[in-house]
Amino acid sequence: MIPTITTVPLLQLASGDRLALQIYKFAGEKLGRKVYLQANLHGSELTGNAVIHQLMQWLSGLEPNQLVGEIWLVPLCNPLGTNERSHHFSPGRFDPYSGENWNRIFWEYQPSVEDLTVFAQSQIECDRPTVEQNYRNRIRASFDKLAAPLKAPSGRPFSEHYRFLLQSLCLDAHYVIDLHTSSDQGLTYFYYFRNRQTSARLFMLPIGILLDEYAGGAFDEAFMKPWLALEDCFAKLGRKIQFDIEAWTMELGSAMQIDTETVDRGVQAVKNYLLQKGVLRVPAAPAPMPSIAAMKLVSSSQMKKYYAPVGGMVQSRVALGKTVEAGQRLYQILSFPKSAYETSQMPTISDICAEQSGIVYDVSINHAVNQGEYVLGIL
Ligand SMILES: [Zn+2]
Repeated sequence: MIPTITTVPLLQLASGDRLALQIYKFAGEKLGRKVYLQANLHGSELTGNAVIHQLMQWLSGLEPNQLVGEIWLVPLCNPLGTNERSHHFSPGRFDPYSGENWNRIFWEYQPSVEDLTVFAQSQIECDRPTVEQNYRNRIRASFDKLAAPLKAPSGRPFSEHYRFLLQSLCLDAHYVIDLHTSSDQGLTYFYYFRNRQTSARLFMLPIGILLDEYAGGAFDEAFMKPWLALEDCFAKLGRKIQFDIEAWTMELGSAMQIDTETVDRGVQAVKNYLLQKGVLRVPAAPAPMPSIAAMKLVSSSQMKKYYAPVGGMVQSRVALGKTVEAGQRLYQILSFPKSAYETSQMPTISDICAEQSGIVYDVSINHAVNQGEYVLGIL
């Protein structure tokens, strides 16, 4: 298969230069579901670009009759973030104009409870594909209203243009996968939504985080929450319905690097998901998938972040991926208190211990921390 490559203008810079998005579309012979993958929404999170490249190479070797539906791939989906620098480091996590996290800006279809109930009642006798199409039409109609203010003479901030473009690419998708990494150093895991545990297995990754608390404005949430809301509404009306619509955020290791092993795990995860979902029909030995019991599935509300109680230097920190017990020392802070503020001028060492047992899933890159700065996370 050869992908159709589309370049979409995104932003004209003050210098007159332009930034653009490039979309690689693989279309199968038969109509089917649409898969949307993007990478690098946060500017320092690079691994997903290499995953997408390997997927493109793999797909390019397949025949169109082996793909049912279409797969849209958008590497480097935030060029402004990818190119941002401070010395040799990539900040790239926040919109430089507003300070907003790039993954908290997205628009979500949020009908009132009354409107949603009226809609669900009107569809109660319809089959699932019809309900899905009618609901998509409502989401699309609501989304399209965002266009006029963007074109008005008064204009809108860049982040609103950006989200409109990015979400317009996946509004009609069935499966959305957003490839991230830690913004520091992290393990490989994924986030999933409730009632999607069965599909979660298909990624064959040892850790999955159920989103039981929403950040608000995240890309996966914005896509998925309207469908969960409709499923809930139907349940209240006594009809059990689950749409074959899913969104995932994968966290592929550490920022500002591309680790070959992590790329391989990401590629394997996405490939297996597409194969098992029937989007791709490729004769292959069935992958040994972990049972739900073998996966560590925890809720996002159980993730505990540790912030430095005093300013100083982090030392003797437990390694990423280690299991720790409650009460076990996680790290030390070496401080050099200044005499104007402290009684002692001698350096101090503070031990910081775990409040709960768990796996160290993420650690800060910088070992110099101001008071209240992030040091590590446990789940
Ligand atoms: Zn990210």
